[in-house]
Amino acid sequence: MKILVINAGSSSLKYQLIDMETEEVLAKGLCERIGIDGHLKHSPLVGGKPVFNEDLPLPTHSEAIAAVIDKLTSAEYGVVSSMHEIDAVGHRVVHGGEKFACSVKIDDDVMAALEECTPFAPLHNPANITGINACRAVMGDVPMVAVFDTAFHQTMPGKAYMYAVPYEYYQNDGIRRYGFHGTSHRYVSSRCAELMGKPIEELKLISCHMGNGSSICAIDHGKCVDTSMGFTPLVGLPMGTRCGDLDAGVIQFLMNKYGYSIDEMLNILNKKSGVLGVSGVSSDFRDLDAAAERGNDRARLALDMFHYWVAKVVGSYVAAMNGVDAIIYTAGVGENSAETRAAISSYFGYLGVEIDPVANSKRGEDIMISTPDSKVKVFVIPTNEELVIARDTRDIVA
Ligand code: ADP
Repeated sequence: MKILVINAGSSSLKYQLIDMETEEVLAKGLCERIGIDGHLKHSPLVGGKPVFNEDLPLPTHSEAIAAVIDKLTSAEYGVVSSMHEIDAVGHRVVHGGEKFACSVKIDDDVMAALEECTPFAPLHNPANITGINACRAVMGDVPMVAVFDTAFHQTMPGKAYMYAVPYEYYQNDGIRRYGFHGTSHRYVSSRCAELMGKPIEELKLISCHMGNGSSICAIDHGKCVDTSMGFTPLVGLPMGTRCGDLDAGVIQFLMNKYGYSIDEMLNILNKKSGVLGVSGVSSDFRDLDAAAERGNDRARLALDMFHYWVAKVVGSYVAAMNGVDAIIYTAGVGENSAETRAAISSYFGYLGVEIDPVANSKRGEDIMISTPDSKVKVFVIPTNEELVIARDTRDIVA
């Protein structure tokens, strides 16, 4: 069975074609500047075919999907002989609200329910829906599945997901913590249990997804019990450009003082804050490491804040679960920055964590970076959201 995994953004569309017999990625690619002019980078990963990396007109997502199918099946760049070899499509959808606690086969009712979730993710869900509609138009009856970033977090208890605002805002408007990166937290936590050789139902795990966007998740006996992102992905840790937790009074103060509209204010909090805002250097942790190394105090402060916040949230989840068996680092920063992992782990002495510097210096593999004697184990597990989407799609269409 071959499954196409699609992650549609407002002007971009990422894809992978995965052979589920071997879970091998046959080809992957990215359409960019959809609706502007258009560019496709398509990389076949089997058969020794060349990479296609050129501008081509992509006025809408439909042309983008058609271009992807064309490349996947072409003699020169293709990895399958026709579209009929693609058995199903798995779509990443950002927000499933309280309606979707697991992945679902897409039909007209699901599409209507997705539209209802749009107010919760006004930037992301419309792009996901556009991608699904384009795919259904181009690919006809091929079965499709929606996999939600929020679904894994639907097991949180009320005490973790409620905000302490008048209850009717929850009841009438769905105001609550939803959490994001659920597909990533699900993947790395189940992989961690495999690596530990124990059923996930016997473990208390904390996964730290640290990329441009970052979130932490407490997974108690296989179920998410808390996570750091909230109603939107703006809160929790300070991120590349997002502010993380912030007193709402700051928003009122700044809007009054500088006359910002709410859209201008949220643009500052989403795009100009986080480690970029504090450092004034960059949202990229590699740039921050380099600047801090050169003695830039604000870059150092931004990194220190990030490490401190991760450690603080992990500590709160140890308390929430009354213990922890393993801590997992994943995503761009978590998988690549040994310095970040070491700096965060240095807060975990009270847990009996000991990091093995040799293991911590390795990259690109699932690895335990704590010493064999470490009381709480620490792992680096490269995330693989596409594989989770493909596996869910296979299981649901089968
Ligand atoms: P996204 O949230 O967009 O999916 P990623 O998980 O790809 O992001 O993470 C991207 C981030 O990973 C970049 O901002 C960069 O700071 C960080 N990163 C990548 N490689 C390194 C590295 N070697 N050292 C530190 N940070 C890195």
